[in-house]
Amino acid sequence: MSNIVANVEQIRQRVSTAALRAGRNPADVTIIAVTKTRTVDEIRQVLEAGLTHLGENRVQELKEKWPAIGGSATWHLIGSLQTNKAKQALEMANLIHSLDRLSLADELTRLAGRRGVPCKALVEVNISGEESKHGASPAELPALLRAISDGGSVLVQGLMTMAPQGTDPETARPHFRRLRQLADEVKAWGLPNINMEHLSMGMSGDFEVAVEEGATLVRVGTAIFGARL
Ligand SMILES: *Cc1c(COP(=O)(O)O)cnc(C)c1O
Repeated sequence: MSNIVANVEQIRQRVSTAALRAGRNPADVTIIAVTKTRTVDEIRQVLEAGLTHLGENRVQELKEKWPAIGGSATWHLIGSLQTNKAKQALEMANLIHSLDRLSLADELTRLAGRRGVPCKALVEVNISGEESKHGASPAELPALLRAISDGGSVLVQGLMTMAPQGTDPETARPHFRRLRQLADEVKAWGLPNINMEHLSMGMSGDFEVAVEEGATLVRVGTAIFGARL
């Protein structure tokens, strides 16, 4: 068995164990294999291991891999999205995790309306308040979500966050917990076109903690493929 296939199997088990520990159904957690910097051959191994959800953080890189992998996977755009790349993102990604500002929401609404295909997205929230991080602040959520809801062509399916990178996964826990609380608050607003089905949180170093705190989508790169060069 290749390392990649063995790693995927191990991560599946760790996700399952974490879900059961929290009284959750392991089937409610989807592992997204983060394929940035990885080769098509490595990606094929992940598909052979049975993962069908792949994540890229740049539109350009997704575009390069698209001809070889394309529709055989469900693609997630997880990195920050420039407004001028929104059109290409819509054509390739099934779910955009990085909707974080009004100008991008307006552009996605316009483009999706013109295509006649709703755009599925998660709103990225900057929980930690670190300036280096993308994401809307919790205080910006009401106005942003109301505008998206009124626009009608973008369907928000949940929230995404990046926890501060630490050596101890427990440092991420309060950020994940806060994201889940925010999702509960948003749910209570009852806005049309906005549901809170998904929480995209947790990476290689902290996905088990994220699953314990309610993640439905975990984004795992290094733990599957090894260190990025
Ligand atoms: C690279 C990346 C990941 C995966 O990080 P690993 O630590 O390699 O698992 C997850 N989310 C985003 C947004 C990323 O850019």
